[in-house]
Amino acid sequence: MADIFNEEQRSYVMSRIRSKDTKPELLVRKYLHGMGFRYSLHNERLPGKPDMVLKKYKTCIFVNGCFWHGHKHCKAGTRLPETRPEWWKEKLTKNRKRDLRKITELLSLNWNVITIWECELKPKKREATLEKVMKQLLKNGGIE
Ligand SMILES: [Zn+2]
Repeated sequence: MADIFNEEQRSYVMSRIRSKDTKPELLVRKYLHGMGFRYSLHNERLPGKPDMVLKKYKTCIFVNGCFWHGHKHCKAGTRLPETRPEWWKEKLTKNRKRDLRKITELLSLNWNVITIWECELKPKKREATLEKVMKQLLKNGGIE
């Protein structure tokens, strides 16, 4: 089968390929698990198959790669590849819209939604981010 990407695009795509167990997600899991939180993964019955679902805290967590999910406030989320930028723009806009739709659906089902961005898990920011998430979870669970 012919590749729809040229060589440069292909290597770009492969380097950023989405996988279920991306490292940032593992970081979050490991931390929350260590703190005693329990969760299920990639629940197929909920809109958007949230990366983590914490039933007790009525919370769904998405751990988003900045590029694929178009993080608005960082470089990785706003810089387009040099090849076919328009094509990427359209694709990534679609992804963002889909994310918004998922979140809206979950909220309407009375779930809380926490989105954690890849860039917020860089070593310097990691601890503060994870603590913030934990605090939010406790709040969602009625433990203030
Ligand atoms: Zn980001």
